[in-house]
Amino acid sequence: MTFVKRTELQMFDGRQIFYYDRESIARTAIDSRPFEPRPLPGDMREDILTGEWVAMAAHRQARAFLPPKEFCPLCPTKSDFGTEVADSTFEVVVFENRSPSFSAPSDQLPPETIQALGRCEVVVFSDQHEGSFGNLDLAQMRTVLSAWIDRTREISQLPYVEQVFVFENRGEEVGVTLNHPHGQIYSYPFITPRTTKMLQAAQAHFDKTKTPLLTSVIAREIKDEVRVIAQNEHWIAYVPFAARYPFEIHVAPKVFVPDLAELTDAVADAFPEVAKEVLLRLDGVFGIPMAYIAAWHQAPVRTGRDVLGLHWQITSIRRAPGKLKYLAGSEAAMGAFIMDLEPEQSAAQLRDVQL
Ligand SMILES: [Zn+2]
Repeated sequence: MTFVKRTELQMFDGRQIFYYDRESIARTAIDSRPFEPRPLPGDMREDILTGEWVAMAAHRQARAFLPPKEFCPLCPTKSDFGTEVADSTFEVVVFENRSPSFSAPSDQLPPETIQALGRCEVVVFSDQHEGSFGNLDLAQMRTVLSAWIDRTREISQLPYVEQVFVFENRGEEVGVTLNHPHGQIYSYPFITPRTTKMLQAAQAHFDKTKTPLLTSVIAREIKDEVRVIAQNEHWIAYVPFAARYPFEIHVAPKVFVPDLAELTDAVADAFPEVAKEVLLRLDGVFGIPMAYIAAWHQAPVRTGRDVLGLHWQITSIRRAPGKLKYLAGSEAAMGAFIMDLEPEQSAAQLRDVQL
């Protein structure tokens, strides 16, 4: 059993912050920044051409954009400059996003508004400003996983949340506005378009075969071998058969689970080893830190839990040292991807990296 202690404290504006520690440390630091009211929830509009929801979050335009290190809001508080984390050290912290795209219900909005309900959180992977998830030691990666598991479990209890999305954007090329190693959690009051499609495919497969789709996919990857890039007893990492990005890697537990909250300790303990190998291979391909989006696909909170399997999807838009793949006409307007590289070739490049 991996021990992680959670301490819950309040931030200056009433937001919650959680410290996750492997040691039983007393966390009592007070966030003494002057009080400021929190933004009202944004609204949500339906695109009637597609039936998809769009969250309006204009207040996010004012958020910090690539501040210099001494004004990093995710560093611990070491001087007069109060950051989001009041303590002077931490291992892993999670707090509510200051400019959330989705937030708790408010009675201060006109009744005709469809509020963008949900919860957005920031997960800070380390108190060190430099580095990245892949460069953490294995024990600390495990603490981050404990935080993801805990937050997924708790946010799933909110009555207005349908789906919990844990993710990390890394690199300015994919829109990162803070360099400090961190990820985010978005939870939505609807099931996202991508998950809706995945649910349909997973349900159809399950009806036909009585097997979760991801279980069948993993069996095929193990048989084909050519797209597998790393594995251990409990996890497998592979470039999917129909990868859409030059470097796209899926990392899945070998035994089906719907979400992070359902991982057993043994499976969770085995994750950091494979995660680290995958991210080091990704950085090794061109010998430069690879910009990526790492997304945890989880079954929705209330539906599809026996058919949609947990997996971690890492996609990079870099296709060569000086070249990015942009989502252009076909991808952006039609959602039809054109892949510049054979997935087997991409897997071979990742496997060939000397660690
Ligand atoms: Zn920082």
